Amino acid sequence: MKMPQVSVVVPCYNESEVIDAFHTALVEALEPTGRPFEICYVDDGSSDVTGVRVRFLAAADSRVRYTSFSRNFGKEAAMLAGLRMARGDAVVLMDADLQHPPELVPQMLDLYESGSDQVVAQRDRTGEGTVRTVFSRAYYRMVRHFMEVEVADGSGDFRLLSRRAVNAVLSLPESNRFSKGLFSWIGFEAVSFTYTNVQRAAGQSKWGGRRLLNYGIDGLLSFNSRPLRMAIHTGLWLFLAALGYALWIIANVVLHGVDTPGYATLVTVIVGLSGLQLATLGVVGEYVGRIYHESKRRPHYVVSETDESDEAPTPTPA
Ligand code: UDP
Ligand code: MG
Repeated sequence: MKMPQVSVVVPCYNESEVIDAFHTALVEALEPTGRPFEICYVDDGSSDVTGVRVRFLAAADSRVRYTSFSRNFGKEAAMLAGLRMARGDAVVLMDADLQHPPELVPQMLDLYESGSDQVVAQRDRTGEGTVRTVFSRAYYRMVRHFMEVEVADGSGDFRLLSRRAVNAVLSLPESNRFSKGLFSWIGFEAVSFTYTNVQRAAGQSKWGGRRLLNYGIDGLLSFNSRPLRMAIHTGLWLFLAALGYALWIIANVVLHGVDTPGYATLVTVIVGLSGLQLATLGVVGEYVGRIYHESKRRPHYVVSETDESDEAPTPTPA
C-alpha cells in the first residue's frame, strides 16, 4: 500500500448533520490536487449517529479511516488521536462543521510544498458576536503578555503540519493539552494566511461560555508559572504596604497622641487581604491540581472502535 502523502484529521462530535456535506466538499477539494490522501475521522464519543456516518464513509472509500472513542473526551484528545493515526507526510487538522473551508486545503498544500513546516489558516472575525470578539481579543492580548509562546489571535486549529512537526507534537507527553500553545512551542516557523470567517453549516457549537472560560484558563496556566510568581509579588507588596501603614498609625499615636478610629481601615484590610489570599490559593491550587492530574498518567482517551484494516492506534502511556 502506497503511503498517503496527505492526511486530513477531522475531530467530530455530534456532527451527523454536516459530516456528509463536509466529506463531499473535502474530497472535491483534495482530488484535483492529484496527491494521494487519507481522511482520518475521529468520532469523539458522539451521542448522535456521527459514528455510524464515519463508519459508512470508511466502508465506501478506502482512503477514509476512523476511530471512535468510548465517550466524549474533548477536541484536544480527538486531535491527538487523529495525529497518532495519520500516516501522511503532511497532516491537515480541520473541523467537521465546514467552518474551516475545504477549498483552502490545496492552498495550504502549496505553501507546505514551498518548504513550510506549519501552515496556519487564520480566520478574521466576520459575523461573530461583538461580545465574543471583544473577549477573545482581550484574551489573546493577555496570553501574549503572559506566555513564553506566541499564540496569534484568530489562529485556530485549522492548520497543516509537516511530518516532523507532527512527530514533535506527539513527543510532548502532557495530559493537559492546549494545542495552540503546543504548536507554537515546538517551533518550526509557521506561515499563515487569512480567510473570511464562516458560520457553521449546521448543528451547534459545543463551546458555551463556561467551556470557553475553562479553555482560556487552561491556556494561560499550562504554559508558564508566571501567574504563580505574580501572586507572590502582589502578596509581598501588599504586605509591605500594610506594614508601612501600621508604622504610620503607631507613629501618629506616639508623636501626636491622635485617637484613630480603627474599624473602617480594619474592615478594608481584612476584606482586601482575604480576597488576595483566596486568589493566591486558587492559583496555587490550580498548579497542584495540574500536578495531580499529570501524575495519574492516564491515557488521553479510550478507543471503542476503529478501522479493522489498520493497526489500532492504541494510546501509549507517555
Ligand atoms: N469537537 C470534538 N469534541 C468536542 C467538541 C468539539 O471533537 O468535545 C469537534 C467538533 O465536532 C468540530 C470541532 O471540534 O469538528 C470544533 O467544534 P465547534 O464547531 O463546536 O467549535 P467552534 O467552531 O464553535 O469553536
Ligand atoms: Mg465550529
